[in-house]
Amino acid sequence: MSRLQIAAGNWKMNTRATDAKQLAKEVIERAKPGKHAEVIFAVPAPFLIPIAELTENEDGYYTAAQNCHHETKGAYTGEVSATMVQSTGADFVVLGHSERREYNGETADILAAKLRHALDEGLQVIFCCGEPLGVREQGQQNDYVVQQLKDSFGDLHESQMRDIVLAYEPIWAIGTGKTASPEQAQEMHANIRAYLREAFGDKVADDTSILYGGSVKPGNAKELFGQPDVDGGLVGGASLKADDFVQIIEAL
Ligand code: PEP
Repeated sequence: MSRLQIAAGNWKMNTRATDAKQLAKEVIERAKPGKHAEVIFAVPAPFLIPIAELTENEDGYYTAAQNCHHETKGAYTGEVSATMVQSTGADFVVLGHSERREYNGETADILAAKLRHALDEGLQVIFCCGEPLGVREQGQQNDYVVQQLKDSFGDLHESQMRDIVLAYEPIWAIGTGKTASPEQAQEMHANIRAYLREAFGDKVADDTSILYGGSVKPGNAKELFGQPDVDGGLVGGASLKADDFVQIIEAL
């Protein structure tokens, strides 16, 4: 399989400066991603520079911001632009996480603007999608997720898709301990890949890594990542423990 396999740790609003560095150092020391694998630390904004300094010379290791603003600069107190993220040495930004959609009112249009700024700045993007429980209970999840992608990807060009990694994260599985079954994950990932094929062609569909997120742990990572269309994971809670995250990287 030529597609990149990726383990991305989403630290969310956790860690202090010293334990952030310690956590990244320990993982880097203990896990060596292979030739077709990458490990990404998605860290709180204040820690982008020190963590990017740690990952920059480590094969297969990268640093991501968890968000960026949809404008490039200006009077937006407390915000961080894609330009700023890029200037820290970070390589990626996570966009469209369900927590930001829900708590920060991030709409598809705002996400489309963020996506364009991030790509223009040369950042790669981990773009998240995923349905709430009610949508899955009604069996509407496939259409819902594809619509989420269409709503923010609208006029993206095929060449821009090279810098996008997708993360399917069913909202009912994030931080709940409930994981999508490997079959549920595979079905959705194949559905997303079919959308990519239709919208952007075979190369984009075959090359784009699609990560699964939602209570990934050492005990379920191997089976999830073993599905043909699951190319790794976006990991929240378990990425905060070096032991667990190292085992998840080893499951790639
Ligand atoms: C996430 O926040 O992206 C996530 C998947 O969290 P958890 O692994 O804790 O469910």
